[in-house]
Amino acid sequence: AEAVDKQEAALDSVRHLPYLVVSEDVGAQSLLNKLIRNNLVNTTNQVEVLQKDPNSPLYSVKSFEELRLKPQLLQGVYGMGFNRPSKIQETALPMMLAEPPQNLIAQSQSGTGKTAAFVLAMLSHVDPNNKYPQCLCVSPTYELALQTGKVIEQMGKYYPEVKLVYAIRGNKLQRGMKLQEQIVIGTPGTMLDWCSKFKFIDPKKIKVFVLDEADVMIATQGHQDQSIRIQRMLPKNCQMLLFSATFEESVWNFAQRIVPDPNIIKLKREEETLDTIKQYYVLCNSKEEKFQALSNIYGAITIAQAMIFCHTRKTAGWLAGELSREGHQVALLSGEMQVEQRAAVIERFRDGKEKVLVTTNVCARGIDVEQVSVVINFDLPIDKDGNPDNETYLHRIGRTGRFGKRGLAINMVDSKMSMDILYRIQEHFNKKIEKLDTDDLDEIE
Ligand code: ADP
Repeated sequence: AEAVDKQEAALDSVRHLPYLVVSEDVGAQSLLNKLIRNNLVNTTNQVEVLQKDPNSPLYSVKSFEELRLKPQLLQGVYGMGFNRPSKIQETALPMMLAEPPQNLIAQSQSGTGKTAAFVLAMLSHVDPNNKYPQCLCVSPTYELALQTGKVIEQMGKYYPEVKLVYAIRGNKLQRGMKLQEQIVIGTPGTMLDWCSKFKFIDPKKIKVFVLDEADVMIATQGHQDQSIRIQRMLPKNCQMLLFSATFEESVWNFAQRIVPDPNIIKLKREEETLDTIKQYYVLCNSKEEKFQALSNIYGAITIAQAMIFCHTRKTAGWLAGELSREGHQVALLSGEMQVEQRAAVIERFRDGKEKVLVTTNVCARGIDVEQVSVVINFDLPIDKDGNPDNETYLHRIGRTGRFGKRGLAINMVDSKMSMDILYRIQEHFNKKIEKLDTDDLDEIE
């Protein structure tokens, strides 16, 4: 059992590394992000724009009215509760809606309004009187395609003449038929089959081609080639749009093969900082003692909501049980849960239905629960070689400078080894981590 636990811990600690992740995990993480996010990520950073033609004026809009959208679409946008374009939409939308159409590569973290932007572009460019596909949108997974489809339906609510169809495995059409829907959204394999093998779609009539989540896309074997093969069937004047949350070299190379003569928009991710965090450590000898210390902390200070990180699923499960026994309302996030289940747990926690969230690292990557005031590292983050995982440490407890309220982080130390890890983390960030005496807790309030 111990060996399995170790193996799991090792897996847990490497899963988030971009180069090692199995494609399903990236897709799942991306879906999780979509499921739990119902508003925009705050950002104070400026977009970086690289224009295809640097001499042409750069338009940016502060309102949706300025875009001269069809009234039905403006109604759809406002119906979704959008008041003004997001940071990236301010520049991306005028480019995407320009005549003649412009190609675009855009990169910004999840939750910054990319999907809403390209959905609006697709809906603006279709002619509902023409009963054939005019926009293709490829997504890396079936679930992500469905999520984008939902956005199309919401935004197109007052524009019912525009129809949508899903090119996904399992959606079997009769041989020889021609699609009448104006927008096709799906995964690359099926989309390619529908364009070439089955000819349900005439690729020569496509006006807009969207490739979403390029970084997730290239993590799946075959998707890159399939996407490129689709792209090659499209007419020269087809508008090509590509979106990605991250931009490593491989994504960039792929992007350039998909999008000729691109305009490029990048939005830097908000930096995380430890400046607004008070960091402490508690010295213990075992996991039982760590639990005792945790109880003392709970007895001494009022904690609105806390997230507690454990190294393995097993510890997380055990700790959640102990905390429940003490009468806490505990939410447990664990690796074996389905993405939808995880999203539901996070949502309940975000709504304040539970006050404590116990989780392993994998599950909590990329989750920002802004109101969490206390983060507890029941186990310190380490990588697969047992070295301190500074990036994860920062990610767990760091706040984005301007938006973050002050936070409190408590690290549990239970061995010489973990003490050493703690020192190294402290050194890395050059920020003091104070010792906390859990029998005398006046100091932290
Ligand atoms: P991304 O594709 O970059 O992950 P989304 O387009 O999914 O971002 O947007 C993230 C969230 O913000 C969604 O819930 C979406 O409905 C919302 N959103 C998008 N654009 C706006 C806007 N201009 N105003 C308010 N909310 C928006």
